[in-house]
Amino acid sequence: MPDTHCPLCQVDAAEILWSDAFCRVIWVGDADYPGFCRVILNAHVKEMTDLPPAERQRLMGVVFAVEAALREVARPDKINLASLGNLVPHVHWHVIPRWADDPNFPDSIWSAARREKTTRALPGDLQATLAARLAATAIGPRAGLLPPFTPPHTP
Ligand SMILES: [Zn+2]
Repeated sequence: MPDTHCPLCQVDAAEILWSDAFCRVIWVGDADYPGFCRVILNAHVKEMTDLPPAERQRLMGVVFAVEAALREVARPDKINLASLGNLVPHVHWHVIPRWADDPNFPDSIWSAARREKTTRALPGDLQATLAARLAATAIGPRAGLLPPFTPPHTP
């Protein structure tokens, strides 16, 4: 059941890079971490272990596909995967490209900044490139890695 007070239960179609009935990948649009994406479960579920094992695996499959696409198109020094949900207890994963000269490196992006904002040359069409890469990658039912997801019946 969607929670009317939960921001992640509200879908903003404009920010979606890839989606299916199970989850969506959104473009965060953070200039300090270009390519920063979130993988958001469509259902309002609090913890990964509230999901049946096959769904946990499926979600992580999408997280890893985003990581792989991001490494390919943005070539960051490191990828950070984070799932906190303390403010918004709805399962979501942050997939964050990191660079050794980004404002917080090597700390988390939520830590105090160590340096001024840096600029790096990344393709201006990074968002479209990433969306195309995700569309072509093995996370869709077309590629056969994941069967089509049927949402559980809700009365
Ligand atoms: Zn929610």
